[in-house]
Amino acid sequence: MTQTSASAGRGVQLRNLTRVFGSVRALDDFSLDIAPGELVALLGPSGCGKTTALRALSGLEDVDSGSIVVDGEDVTAKPANRRDMAMVFQSYSLFPHMTVAGNIDFACELRKVAGDRRKIVAENLELVGLGTQADRYPHQLSGGQQQRVALARALAVRPKVLLLDEPLSALDAKVRVQLRDEIRRIQQEVGITTLFVTHDQEEALVVADRVGVMSSGKLMQIGAPADIYSRPVTGFVADFIGQTNKLPGRSAGSSASVLGQTVPLLPGSASGDVTVLIRPENITLRPAAGVAADRAGRVQITGFLGSHAKVRVEVPGGFVVAQLGVGESSGLAPGDEVEVILKDVPALAVATS
Ligand code: ATP
Repeated sequence: MTQTSASAGRGVQLRNLTRVFGSVRALDDFSLDIAPGELVALLGPSGCGKTTALRALSGLEDVDSGSIVVDGEDVTAKPANRRDMAMVFQSYSLFPHMTVAGNIDFACELRKVAGDRRKIVAENLELVGLGTQADRYPHQLSGGQQQRVALARALAVRPKVLLLDEPLSALDAKVRVQLRDEIRRIQQEVGITTLFVTHDQEEALVVADRVGVMSSGKLMQIGAPADIYSRPVTGFVADFIGQTNKLPGRSAGSSASVLGQTVPLLPGSASGDVTVLIRPENITLRPAAGVAADRAGRVQITGFLGSHAKVRVEVPGGFVVAQLGVGESSGLAPGDEVEVILKDVPALAVATS
C-alpha cells in the first residue's frame, strides 16, 4: 500500500456538543476525543444519539452549541463538503450505473484528489480485496463486496476522518464478522482516524481501540474494550456490555458479601444494601449436596453454545447464570445440586433500586 492517508494528525475533539430536537436532547453536553489513527466505536441503545454525534462530526447535522475540532482546526461552522471526511453507510450507497472502478474514480473526481487516479482506484480496490472486480457493476456483487467498494471509495479520497455508520448491519452474520475483521485490518494499515457507530456490542469490542457507551445524548464511559467490560462505572454500562447477574448483597465499600461469600468491589461501588453485578464467567459451579444454604443452588437449564456452556441455577431469592467450559458443564443436569462459587474478580455494586 503506497497511498498515504491524510489522517487527522492532531485527531478530533468534540467539545460539549448539544443538539435538541423538540423535547429530545439527542446530544447533551457530549464530549469525545479521537486520537490520530485511533478507531473509536460509539455504542448505545437505539435513540441514544450515536448517529447524531457522527453526523455532527461530518457536518451533516448542525449542533446548537459546542465545538468540533479536526486536526487542530475548528470546523464547527464549516459545511460537510469542506470537512475532509468520508462516510460509509449501512446501505452501501453505490451508484448503480457505474462500475466498481467508476464509483471510486467518480468520488476522487468530485473531491479533486490529486495524483494518478487509475493507480489510486487500483490500490484501494486491492486494499479491500477486490482487485479483480473493477469492471463489475454493483448489482453483480454481494452485499459484503458492495460494502468493501464503499469502503475503498471512502478511503480513496484520503479523508482526514473516516466515519462508519452501522456499516455491517445490513449483512448476514458470517459476512458481518469477516468484514468487521477486515475493517479493523484496513483501518490499522491505513492508520486513519475513525469513528464507528454501532448498536452491536460485540462488534464494538472487537473492532475498536476505545469504546464509548452513550445513553440519552451523554457519554457514560469511554475506554479500551477490556476496561469497559471488566470495569464498568455504572450499572447501565455493565448491563449494556455483555451479560450480567444482579445479585443482592451487602457492601462495605471495597468488598461485599453475596451468596455467603465475599467479593472485591470496583471503585465507585455503592455501600450498604446493594445489587452486585457479576459476569457469568466469574461464577463457577461445583457438584455438591448439602452445602451451606446461602451458596447452594439447583441447576435449572444447561445450554451448550459451542465453545462454552451457560448454566442457569436457582439460588435463594432468584437465579444466576454461570458460564462454564464445555467439559465443566458436561456433568451437570437439571435438578442437580451445586455449590455456587464466586470468583475473586472485582465486581460493581450499585444501589438497589
Ligand atoms: P439508532 O441506533 O436507532 O439509529 P441513535 O443512537 O443513532 O439511534 P439518533 O439517530 O442519534 O440515535 O437519535 C437520537 C434522538 O434524536 C432520537 O430520539 C431521535 O428520534 C432524535 N432525532 C434524531 N434526528 C432527528 C431529527 N432530524 N428530528 C427529530 N428528532 C431527531
